[in-house]
Amino acid sequence: MTASPLFYQGGTDLPEVSHGQGITLWDTQGKDYLDGCAGAICCNLGHGRQDIRDAMLAQLDRVAFTYRTQFENAPALALGRALVELTGGVLQKVFFVSGGSEAVESALKLARQYVVATGQPQRRRFVSLRPSYHGSTLGALGVTGYHPLEAPFAELTHASLKVPGPDLYRHSDASDEAHIDRVLAETRAAMEAAGPETLIGVVLEPIGGASTGARLLGERYLKGMRTLCDELGCLLILDEVLTGVGRTGAWFAYQHYGVTPDLLATAKGLGAGYYPVGALLARDDIVAAVMESGGFQHGHTYAGNPLACATALAVIEAIRREDLLENARARGAELGAGLRALATRHPWVGDVRGLGLLWGVELVADPVTREPFPAAQQRFAQITALAREEGLLVYPRRTLDGVAGDHFLVTPPLTIGADEVALLLERLGRAMA
Ligand code: PMP
Repeated sequence: MTASPLFYQGGTDLPEVSHGQGITLWDTQGKDYLDGCAGAICCNLGHGRQDIRDAMLAQLDRVAFTYRTQFENAPALALGRALVELTGGVLQKVFFVSGGSEAVESALKLARQYVVATGQPQRRRFVSLRPSYHGSTLGALGVTGYHPLEAPFAELTHASLKVPGPDLYRHSDASDEAHIDRVLAETRAAMEAAGPETLIGVVLEPIGGASTGARLLGERYLKGMRTLCDELGCLLILDEVLTGVGRTGAWFAYQHYGVTPDLLATAKGLGAGYYPVGALLARDDIVAAVMESGGFQHGHTYAGNPLACATALAVIEAIRREDLLENARARGAELGAGLRALATRHPWVGDVRGLGLLWGVELVADPVTREPFPAAQQRFAQITALAREEGLLVYPRRTLDGVAGDHFLVTPPLTIGADEVALLLERLGRAMA
């Protein structure tokens, strides 16, 4: 066999995929795998959906691509309206992109143009959390808090002010509330020291996704950050690339917490693995200020193309029709209970946390001190490999601050049934044993 021409980072000796149906994938040897992580937490409707195929083919038969400066297109308009509706009208404007990094990148650039347009050009820096992941393009990398990804590009990125987020599993404060209050106070102090008049906005995921193993930040923290942003004149920019479009049992995760963002980036589940599509949602007045001062100096060729938008519209319709937000909540509760039951059998499972169908399992060497495994002995890769042998895919990710151990994510498609939750837990149980 000749060497592979592909050089993206990935596994080695991977089986070749044959096909998928529902939440199951088959390799070319006929082995089946439960997709316990929806690919890269994006295949929210599972595989082989006839309705999505039909919607895509219908659009392909009409036209696949038109350029936004040459034609209006009905799917883009309808998808824009649908997304605004999903926010309950809290965000009124939509800008299309093809993925998560582009969505975050667009948010950063719109935010910068907004502060310039409103006479605050001295605001030129963002604030974000460490650990965090916001994408691989240089702008998104600038707000990402993960040293190994940042280091090679340190001279090329415009690094944000990094502040620690709350860690409700591993803190030594008197209570979770006291911990959050301390983190908020330290964040305020860091922003004040940096000069609030130099800051554009805060970028964060409402629930830490892959970067933290689904760490919940909670209402107290998110409301505190909203207040902090308001008091310091900063924008609150939510990265819902992973948490958006139903993953947590709400259309967007912020909706659990009674906070509203100024800008929101989403992608992954929007195309549900059928087509790459993402979106930046923004407050009306932010967009108006930028458009009145010469327009948004940003855009991508494939943004808002008819095929992408027809796909995403069909995804949203399917989530509505099948009441998959409710399914995410109900199956998510079963999955969480099952993971917690598994955890009691294995002392090296330190923490199980999540919401809807976004669950993280953190692994520790010592459950009492919560000491992580030494780097060379981290278990996430071992568990992922053993689960794969049992016919289950989970999403491995070393917690990105290098302190808080290792973890894997369990994030099946929102379409998962109760029997399939049980089967997933059974296979995971065997892998963990
Ligand atoms: N933000 C978050 C929170 C993500 O999880 C990801 C992808 N893992 C991105 C941004 C980047 O998205 P993409 O890979 O589609 O560029």
